[in-house]
Amino acid sequence: MSAQYNPYDQVLATVEQAASILGYDQSDYEILKYPERELKVSIPIIMDDGSVQVFQGYRVQHSTSRGPAKGGIRFHPNVDINEVRALAAWMSFKCAVVNVPYGGGKGGVECDPTKISESEMMRITRRFTSMIAPMIGPEKDIPAPDVGTNAQVMGWIVDTYSMLQGHAVPGVVTGKPINLGGSYGRAEATGRGVTITALNILKTLNIPIENTTAVVQGMGNVGSIAAKLLHENGLKIVAVSDVSGGIHNPDGLDIPNILDYLGKSKDNLLINYHKKDVQHISNQKLLETEATLLIPAALENQINADNADKIKAKVIVEGANGPTTGEADDILNNKGIIVVPDILANAGGVIVSYFEWVQNLQHMSWSEDNINKRLKVIMDHSFDAVYNIAKENDTSLRTGAYLIAVKRIVETNQMRGIWP
Ligand code: GLU
Repeated sequence: MSAQYNPYDQVLATVEQAASILGYDQSDYEILKYPERELKVSIPIIMDDGSVQVFQGYRVQHSTSRGPAKGGIRFHPNVDINEVRALAAWMSFKCAVVNVPYGGGKGGVECDPTKISESEMMRITRRFTSMIAPMIGPEKDIPAPDVGTNAQVMGWIVDTYSMLQGHAVPGVVTGKPINLGGSYGRAEATGRGVTITALNILKTLNIPIENTTAVVQGMGNVGSIAAKLLHENGLKIVAVSDVSGGIHNPDGLDIPNILDYLGKSKDNLLINYHKKDVQHISNQKLLETEATLLIPAALENQINADNADKIKAKVIVEGANGPTTGEADDILNNKGIIVVPDILANAGGVIVSYFEWVQNLQHMSWSEDNINKRLKVIMDHSFDAVYNIAKENDTSLRTGAYLIAVKRIVETNQMRGIWP
């Protein structure tokens, strides 16, 4: 991430813009500009070779006015306080736009999961959990997976937190393994929500699905499921990428074969995927590939002032959090490219996290079919609400989503008042 890029500045600019359209005074939304609570921890770990390394970790609660803080934990070398702050704030707006009763939070540890062993990862997770334990809990702040973490990491958090409490507390995180109280459908939920949103925007714009081309950046939990489901729905996926680079076939990639290859080993990267008619391209070229739909599902700051002008897609559906910078957003809007914003498009994960938490609190288990149906109802309804408000106000879909989210949080704050 470039030195001058601070994603939290982007959060502030978006909030200011929505607040001004809503006609709010500064004092109506001043609270939203500041994260409620932040904790920074230094995590000492005995590495497998016996040396001691200290990792930096963070948990930020941006808002708890609509409910407990909610949001993932990221393990990535780029994690810093500004990133975690921005990700926490985006969670507040995401939960508000789809109207699940949560505030927003996020955590992160600055580490490279590709360069540490599984047991080192477990020790980082356990020590980090113990250090943020006073801040989290089913009624306070509920972490979940994000970039670099997964169901196994959530399992270690449940165990560590439960040992500290002296009894099992499965509701402390979501995105857990099913056997530990995880929910059916949670692992696929973000990619499924991205797919539902992509189909909704194509339908709204009267773009037929058959033979519509799509490009997916990122083959992690979000991108791989979105590519799989879009392919199953009849779209032609012409390019995909992972950290090692991208692959391209204008006639359409064999998505099941690619996912099978990637799923076989952690070391299987696209750079080593060789098939007839498949060309290797850089991640940069991938974003500029000719296609109707572009799904950035990797990290922040991917579509920025340097490349926004070169994007050829008609529609962008943001699977990642914050993939488009504010400057890039303006360029895309001027070019007439429709952007379905992250806080709406990738909300499927937190929606099913909410279902998981509700199941945990009620000691119930719902079927996958039930969960997928409920997810679709909320995604469809939220899409319509954002689309309509954007149309009424003649704004982008991002601004539309923020109009709904900022209004919901501000009204909650006004009804609660400021204590004492
Ligand atoms: N990390 C995911 C996100 O950014 C999921 C958060 C959650 O389920 O709490 O939306």
